[in-house]
Amino acid sequence: MDYAYTYGDTRNLYLNATNRCTNRCSFCVRYRTKGLGGAVLWGEDEPDLEQLKAAVHLRGPFEEIREFIWCGYGEPTFRLDLIREAAPWLRRAGARIRLNTNGHACLIHGRDVLVDLAPAVDEVSVSLNAPNCRRYLELCRPEPRFFAAAGGDASIPELAWESMIDFLTRAPFYIAKVQASVVGFTLTSEEVESCRLLARSLGIKHFRVR
Ligand code: SF4
Repeated sequence: MDYAYTYGDTRNLYLNATNRCTNRCSFCVRYRTKGLGGAVLWGEDEPDLEQLKAAVHLRGPFEEIREFIWCGYGEPTFRLDLIREAAPWLRRAGARIRLNTNGHACLIHGRDVLVDLAPAVDEVSVSLNAPNCRRYLELCRPEPRFFAAAGGDASIPELAWESMIDFLTRAPFYIAKVQASVVGFTLTSEEVESCRLLARSLGIKHFRVR
């Protein structure tokens, strides 16, 4: 699979580090196409730092990149090791580093990892996706086997919602810019508004309808 790809603005470079995910969202683009921007994003292999560097350099001049975004066909925080290891090298380009995440990092790793993420990203966008747990489970269809791997209870899919809300609520204490996002076409306008109010009640200043 391709580890780096552009989508739209070529000064923004997306980093695709894994296909593992704790969700199977009904709206996920990965179930409809094998890649984006001409890149193939499906594959079982995952890059180490040297492979990531090679993929980034293949995409053009390093110094011209304005933003690196951890976002591919899986949940990037499965590769917390790579996100941390790559940060000093990515920062050499003078670009910002953003993480697009479903907010399950602590559930995946079975511990609080916000303190580990904090030095490695400048901005995080968390997929809120629903106004309540019931709708979240309908839309995002969590994968309980990954909770078991984290020492969680596989019989409680609600952990996915609770873990995401906990991550979103605490992220502003660690990361400078935190955004909550929803996918517009999956929700009614009332639900979008409920999500906006929920994010605000959690202290999140930035909200985006994708
Ligand atoms: S969390 Fe993201 S990568 Fe995972 S299934 Fe949902 S949209 Fe796709």
